[in-house]
Amino acid sequence: MSDVEQLVAAASAEFAGIDDAAQLEQVKARYLGKSGSLTELLKGLGKLPPEERKARGAAINSAKERIEAALQQRREAIRAAVLQAQLHAEALDVTLPGRGMGVGGLHPVTRTLERIEELFRSIGFDVADGPEIEDDFHNFTALNTPENHPARSMHDTFYIENTPGLLLRTHTSPIQVRHMESHKPPLRVIAPGRVYRVDSDATHSPMFHQVEGLWIDEDVSFADLKGVFTDFLRRFFEKPELRTRFRPSFFPFTEPSAEIDMSCVFCDEGGVNRGCRVCGHTGWLEIAGSGMVHPNVLRHVGIDSEKYIGFAFGMGPDRLTMLRYGVSDLRLFFDGDLRFLSQFK
Ligand SMILES: [Zn+2]
Repeated sequence: MSDVEQLVAAASAEFAGIDDAAQLEQVKARYLGKSGSLTELLKGLGKLPPEERKARGAAINSAKERIEAALQQRREAIRAAVLQAQLHAEALDVTLPGRGMGVGGLHPVTRTLERIEELFRSIGFDVADGPEIEDDFHNFTALNTPENHPARSMHDTFYIENTPGLLLRTHTSPIQVRHMESHKPPLRVIAPGRVYRVDSDATHSPMFHQVEGLWIDEDVSFADLKGVFTDFLRRFFEKPELRTRFRPSFFPFTEPSAEIDMSCVFCDEGGVNRGCRVCGHTGWLEIAGSGMVHPNVLRHVGIDSEKYIGFAFGMGPDRLTMLRYGVSDLRLFFDGDLRFLSQFK
């Protein structure tokens, strides 16, 4: 075998043993590159006598074509192998069962909100809505909360950057203010929604829910507040024997004001309470704030405070949900863990 034929055989054999595209190109340079074996043979042509030059040149050119063909063939084989490997790695087993569409459910707090709305609608209350980004007037001033009140501090309230006077509402009371501005008494309305405060631990979340209620008419009394709210709690917890008590308290927007406690839903049966961990062995659970609407609040929204009077209350549906379902950590509601949430489907 001539040296040229040996070169073709060596190159073909070497290409065939390579599985890597980059390595193949390196080996190619050894044969076809500027100082490759074949190039060296071509350089030697000039030293040959003219009569030998033609045949030798033709043989070298033929060798070059065959080496290039072998190279090309190997390139394509490697490309095909890489593609096969990729297809194999990304293979889909179309016989596997699909993941399916999970059946969703309402969030437990949403269930509570809907239940509260349904119960109050059944006794003639409207349900109002309002913006979560509020202005200073509706969140504080209209509610008789003066400029220097601590609730207005940066420690308690999320303010909107670079926009003086705007904040994330800290309670749902501004919904009631807006409702009083746009409706004439008599008014019976509840205001459910998300509210925001700078606060976060096992029993506080920076975002939580509130429901406030308002009844304004010519002859609404504290007795009506007690009757409406006690009846609501009995129906909400499905406990006709549930009792309430009203403790004197202070809120800027009501006068007089009262905290509402209810008999513990876990340990109180038929007026006999045994005490438990949830109620701190007192038999009572704090459940809401309430009071008769302050005349200043009525004046701020243009309602004649000599003619009209009413009550307001505010409660936490997150807490109501915890008590109704026996959940001990508020954060579970907002973690988004489906193992927890799917129990309420
Ligand atoms: Zn208890």
